[in-house]
Amino acid sequence: MNRVKNPLPIPSECQHCGDTVEIVHHDDLYGRSYGDWPWAYRCKGCGSYVGMHPFTNIPLGTLATTEMREARKRCKSPFEALYKSGRLTRSDAYKRLAEKLGIEHEACHFGWFDVEMCLKAEQAAREIFIEIYRS
Ligand SMILES: [Zn+2]
Repeated sequence: MNRVKNPLPIPSECQHCGDTVEIVHHDDLYGRSYGDWPWAYRCKGCGSYVGMHPFTNIPLGTLATTEMREARKRCKSPFEALYKSGRLTRSDAYKRLAEKLGIEHEACHFGWFDVEMCLKAEQAAREIFIEIYRS
């Protein structure tokens, strides 16, 4: 049994347009499957979507529009570089990011961020970079 910490609720209504959310297969989203668990939630209205944690029905984050998906991807990569450098552990990197964003460590997931939060996280990653490379 897979256990997910701090699961988000199953989306039933889209937070962007209010339409109904359905379960779709990756084939419907991408024309192919990724990973072992090819399921996602998708809004019938605006088409925003989010994947599920493997072998559960728990969403990986909040329903994301194209703009949000791009922001999450773009802003996550400079942050990931911080712990990939080996100067910080992944867990410490998330702790520092949460502190800078003024949110709970448990709520600090790019999959949960909107565009504005992604941009703040990118700026925070820059600040953390400066701090760890000056110390
Ligand atoms: Zn929608």
